[in-house]
Amino acid sequence: MCPPGRPKGAYRSAQREGNSVRPPGRPKGAYRSAQREGTPVSGAAMRPLATMPDEIRRAIRCVLTDIDDTLSTHGRLTAAAYAAMERLRAAGRLVIPITGRPAGWCDHIARMWPVDAVVGENGALYMRYDAAQRRLVRRFVDDEATRRAHRARLAGIAERILAAVPGCALASDQLYRETDLAIDFCEDVPALSRAAVDRIVALMQAEGMTAKVSSIHVNGWFGRYDKLAMTRILLTEAFGIDIDAERGHFAFAGDSPNDAPMFAHFPHAVGVANVRAFTDRIATLPAYVTQGEAGAGFAELADFLLGASG
Ligand SMILES: [Mg+2]
Repeated sequence: MCPPGRPKGAYRSAQREGNSVRPPGRPKGAYRSAQREGTPVSGAAMRPLATMPDEIRRAIRCVLTDIDDTLSTHGRLTAAAYAAMERLRAAGRLVIPITGRPAGWCDHIARMWPVDAVVGENGALYMRYDAAQRRLVRRFVDDEATRRAHRARLAGIAERILAAVPGCALASDQLYRETDLAIDFCEDVPALSRAAVDRIVALMQAEGMTAKVSSIHVNGWFGRYDKLAMTRILLTEAFGIDIDAERGHFAFAGDSPNDAPMFAHFPHAVGVANVRAFTDRIATLPAYVTQGEAGAGFAELADFLLGASG
């Protein structure tokens, strides 16, 4: 896990070992080191997934999931994680990725992945493929004129951040974004310090943006929306489900601080094991945690939910 999200002890340990702890090239031991040295968690959060009561497990009808470092593993979508989504859908569960990734990715995901819809750009939009109508449905928080006006301001802000924080870069997926600015601190650049990431967040906030930290990018946007707000709109509009009244029928899988609103809302939220690297940065931790990390943790969740009752 990247330094900004790692417990201090784990980061120091990684530094001592000379590990480069970033998602694409992350050494296998990185997650485990974070686990061993992670902040102890008290209370009802982060219970082993296996302790979820059977009646709760059977009641889960919809699986929402983050993508980076939750479905993906070291920057790749594994066959096991992909198959887990297919199995859940085949068993009649709704499967919906909730991500900070760009609109361009969401177009592909909504059309081609075994999912029912996708929420992208940290809640700026959802997309779903309407098979009966044979068309992609796109829904944004802001109308096109507002998005265009916001986008016109992003280049200048990006330039100021890149000049002020050495080592960061414009995220490689920036061109495929409709609404937000993504600054890479860990995906294609050597991992930056936590202080540098905090500086990026502060600069975005000074520009009047909302800023959120994922495991690889700092995302900034104009407006107060988040993953949870757009998930509420999607479930109401597309599926007629009230995520407040029906929250007991949802599981949400995630791993990092920008998942916090989802962890807080859904009582049966599940962190994949590498969430332990971020425990000091997430106000409300998920109720459960898997044994496996990243995509293996998601596959473990699918297996568990589909267990005896299928
Ligand atoms: Mg993530």
